[in-house]
Amino acid sequence: KVIGVDLGRIDIAHTSEGKNWNGQQLNRVRDHYSRLRAALQRKASKGTRSSRRRCRELLQRLSGKERRFQTWVNHRISKAIVSRAKATNSAIALEDLTGIRERVNQQPRSKTERRRANSWAFYQLRQFLEYKARVAGVSLVLVPPAYTSQTCHKCLHIHPDPAQSYRSGKSFKCGHCGWEGDADLNGANVIALLGAVVNQPRGPGLFCSLVEQNRLRATESPLRTA
Ligand SMILES: [Zn+2]
Repeated sequence: KVIGVDLGRIDIAHTSEGKNWNGQQLNRVRDHYSRLRAALQRKASKGTRSSRRRCRELLQRLSGKERRFQTWVNHRISKAIVSRAKATNSAIALEDLTGIRERVNQQPRSKTERRRANSWAFYQLRQFLEYKARVAGVSLVLVPPAYTSQTCHKCLHIHPDPAQSYRSGKSFKCGHCGWEGDADLNGANVIALLGAVVNQPRGPGLFCSLVEQNRLRATESPLRTA
């Protein structure tokens, strides 16, 4: 059994079992800090010399607090995912994003991926997951990230027009089998499927058919439909 985890797209993390952590609480805390920072910066630009210094010190303490909060959130999420995997005797599958910055000419969502690959909070969450999985003896599988967000996990179809996608923001609607639902849940399920195949020495050919489908898609004219 494999639990697929889609990280940092719209939700912070979304598992193939449907568990998700959204960024709402995190955003509220960030907004709170950014308001405080703005007020302090205004204060720091005027006032006496000593009050300006006090404001600068406070600003520094704030950025440390914000970081620690983010770290705490990442600890909590990774702990929950790894304990669930251990309890259900499952492996965890994540997208392999190493070298994402170097890779060019990838898929349409490369801009999002660059942001995700460059964010320290996102990087930290991956590190925590890898570390906690190793400590707990849970195996962790990395899968190729190409098309995980655009493939339907039910029928493995991708939109025949490369310029379009079945995914639109938070929702996914397959034009082939009609599956409709949360886009991150779909992504997590594709990751789980790929993880299950990668985990076996010789898979049932799911991965190959996906690759084949992508290859066909790349050569297909936009007018021809699947
Ligand atoms: Zn489908």
